[in-house]
Amino acid sequence: MSEAVVRHDWTREEVAALFALPFNELLHQAHTVHRTYHDANAVQVSTLLSIKTGGCPEDCAYCPQAARYDTGVAAQKLMEVDDVLARAKAAKAAGASRFCMGAAWRGPKDRDIPKVAEIVRAVKDLGLETCATLGLLGDGHAQQLKAAGLDYYNHNIDTAPEFYGEIIHTREYQDRLATLEQVRDAGLKTCCGGIVGMGETREQRAGLLQALANLPEHPHSVPINQLVPVPGTPLGNAEKLDPFEFVRAIAVARILMPLSIVRLSAGRQQMDDAVQALCFHAGAGSIFYGEKLLTTGNPDTEHDRALFRRLDLHAMEVVEEASTVHADIMEAAPAGCGHGCGCSVAA
Ligand code: SF4
Repeated sequence: MSEAVVRHDWTREEVAALFALPFNELLHQAHTVHRTYHDANAVQVSTLLSIKTGGCPEDCAYCPQAARYDTGVAAQKLMEVDDVLARAKAAKAAGASRFCMGAAWRGPKDRDIPKVAEIVRAVKDLGLETCATLGLLGDGHAQQLKAAGLDYYNHNIDTAPEFYGEIIHTREYQDRLATLEQVRDAGLKTCCGGIVGMGETREQRAGLLQALANLPEHPHSVPINQLVPVPGTPLGNAEKLDPFEFVRAIAVARILMPLSIVRLSAGRQQMDDAVQALCFHAGAGSIFYGEKLLTTGNPDTEHDRALFRRLDLHAMEVVEEASTVHADIMEAAPAGCGHGCGCSVAA
């Protein structure tokens, strides 16, 4: 696959110009890129489990897990290995190829890492790809997680650099970039995206995607979340984003990062099937499925299976090959946080 198509020098003007294309033209360009580098009828299916919910000291304005907001989310401690394993087995049986685990921490403490590593090892032994989203990483954490069998680490940049200060005050944009660097340096694959619909302008949505595309490496997975306003959070009354604007964001992400997998993440439950179909056409190649997105609901498994059948989509499956585990395409149709540090506004 040509590396020539991977650019890291996108200008804001170029990205804004993509957003401004006539809708059908943008979709055509995005779909052309999508089918050039991906199987346009395959969707990678991930399941996300919150392994440590609520009580987070951070102040992300969209997040129901922040202790300072009255959202009814009770703080829980880190789940036991056997309990996580039972959920991972169920996710695999339901057709998931990747199991993402989120913890509502500012970041793990040194003492948390061995326990998370034990969980990662157990999930990996099931033959699932593993992803974790634990917040800011300290020295050596990424290496220890990698050694335990972690495949992906999710850490979102959330929004455009110039809008970030409107959303989060307890950690800097630069902190996020530093954790992403640690993840890359440890040889982990990065999962990194953001959230749209938080009151940002289209220019700022372009800024988010420009920042993602100009990272030193394009993230392997790019979750694009639509804000799910949760009562009790500062964004609880945020105005709903035009669904076609969300589709545009998926399409622009597809064009800017042609080899990455763009994930339709939080907010999918609020989209009707036709909008989801447009997102798949625009280049979304991954979804969360079956489980709850950290604390935000997700369409149930049966509905997703039916949608896949109606759209003739099939799921990717993890296959063992030599000593590596990677996602591959399953030939047969399958049976099937708000988390800035997680896969979404929920993951
Ligand atoms: S998004 Fe993550 S870091 Fe931010 S408040 Fe929620 S759990 Fe904490």
